[in-house]
Amino acid sequence: PAEQLPYDPNKKTIVILGTGWGSTTVLKNLDTENYNVVVVSPRNYFLFTPLLPSCTVGTIENRSIMESVRQLARHKQRTVTFYEAECTNIDADSKELTIERRTHSDDLQVSNERPPTAPEDIVKLKYDYLVVGVGGTVNTFGTPGVEEHACFLKEMRDARKIRRRLMDAVESASFDDISEEERDRLLHMVVVGGGPTGIEYAGELHDFLTDDLSQWYPSLAHRVRITLVEALPNVLPAFDKKLIDYTQSTFSENKITILTHTMVKEVKDKSFVVQNADGSRSEIPYGLLVWATGIKAQPIVNRIREQYPQVQTNGRGLLVDEHLRVKGAKDIWALGDCALSGYAPLAQVASQQGKWLARRLNNLGSVASQQSREGKEFDIFAAIEEEKPFKYSSQGSLAYIGSEKAIADLPLFNRNITAGGLATFWFWKSAYLNELFSLRNSTLVASDWIKRFFFGRDISRE
Ligand code: NAD
Repeated sequence: PAEQLPYDPNKKTIVILGTGWGSTTVLKNLDTENYNVVVVSPRNYFLFTPLLPSCTVGTIENRSIMESVRQLARHKQRTVTFYEAECTNIDADSKELTIERRTHSDDLQVSNERPPTAPEDIVKLKYDYLVVGVGGTVNTFGTPGVEEHACFLKEMRDARKIRRRLMDAVESASFDDISEEERDRLLHMVVVGGGPTGIEYAGELHDFLTDDLSQWYPSLAHRVRITLVEALPNVLPAFDKKLIDYTQSTFSENKITILTHTMVKEVKDKSFVVQNADGSRSEIPYGLLVWATGIKAQPIVNRIREQYPQVQTNGRGLLVDEHLRVKGAKDIWALGDCALSGYAPLAQVASQQGKWLARRLNNLGSVASQQSREGKEFDIFAAIEEEKPFKYSSQGSLAYIGSEKAIADLPLFNRNITAGGLATFWFWKSAYLNELFSLRNSTLVASDWIKRFFFGRDISRE
């Protein structure tokens, strides 16, 4: 790449927390001419989350949906600094962050299980402007046993763990010396949560079972059972009623059992406890349990909220105004799943917010530079108020439901178009290829799809 401008002490420094949909979109669209930019995230890559369920069964290779932050920052006019660290605290008065190095790969567990960080791995970082796009963390609702025994589906490490556990369960069930009851337990795959994540995972698992496991484990595959457990009366509450019915009937054809009105109360080592619609409880054995019940606030979001206890009263995230400014704060913006902006926690929302914020910062940054050349101060945080507020424009929802069928809720010509089936599946594929960040990633994903078509999925445990 061409030589980049160095850090400039006369420019304001924007610190961006996170490398998800919101933060990386800010980074991509931000003009670094007028700012120094520092990115802090425990993950040194962007992850294309809509295709994460496909990685759990090897339809897509893990690295095809990852893109390094450094790759994203490579073509910026000014050098972008990246720290692989987690921001754990903030002092908003002195505009100083505490960040903890996360450069040891065994640090990849969820925060609340991690031992305290060594003092030499704790670093202070100053900011002029802060953009918080840290997303959320898995929500267990405090259900006992979930952290210990369930798999989540949020990060790449989760997809890897699911793939390993799944193959472990199938291989364990292949031994002759176990009871039939134990074999059935091992082959019972359970998904908790009927939101899009749970539905897409169940769909991918079904495909793996019918396309691949049935060939490699002919005497076992027909005994594999997939159960999806949902506390509400139906799955996919955010989708159109027709699409809910279509999904439920596709699942029924695919022999995926959906237990609605059923809430998981506890997860044990080899079984889980549910509360049924009539209030009774039962215990169900399982071999693999995937927990996909949505997200809650990250610890740093709560630390930021604590700085403004009078205004930041919602435990689910950071309340922001229509210019994405954190309410009560100065020089802090938030976007994506960690921001409560009135929109659903969707990748599309985060990325539109990222684009909106970067453009505003670009415009105001050049005004600020001009003013500072004339020796004047310019308050970008206050001036953004004059800009047109952020407004989300929905491009619809898409979800893959298995056996080459997808569902789509699309707002076209002011009407909601709903569609399900094979054509939608191809639309789903091309939409995702279009949306993938780089030519490199789109090529990798397309070639994974072709590879799977010719050779099937790999069943090695790894
Ligand atoms: P979600 O919040 O959409 O769904 C979680 C489901 O789990 C809920 O229906 C809830 O009733 C159920 N649940 C919670 N606790 C339970 C329990 N103890 N027992 C049984 N069921 C329980 O979560 P998600 O699917 O992870 O999605 C998170 C967000 O991301 C949503 O806004 C979603 O729309 C979005 N998303 C969208 C797509 C897509 O459009 N393709 C894909 C993935 C995620």
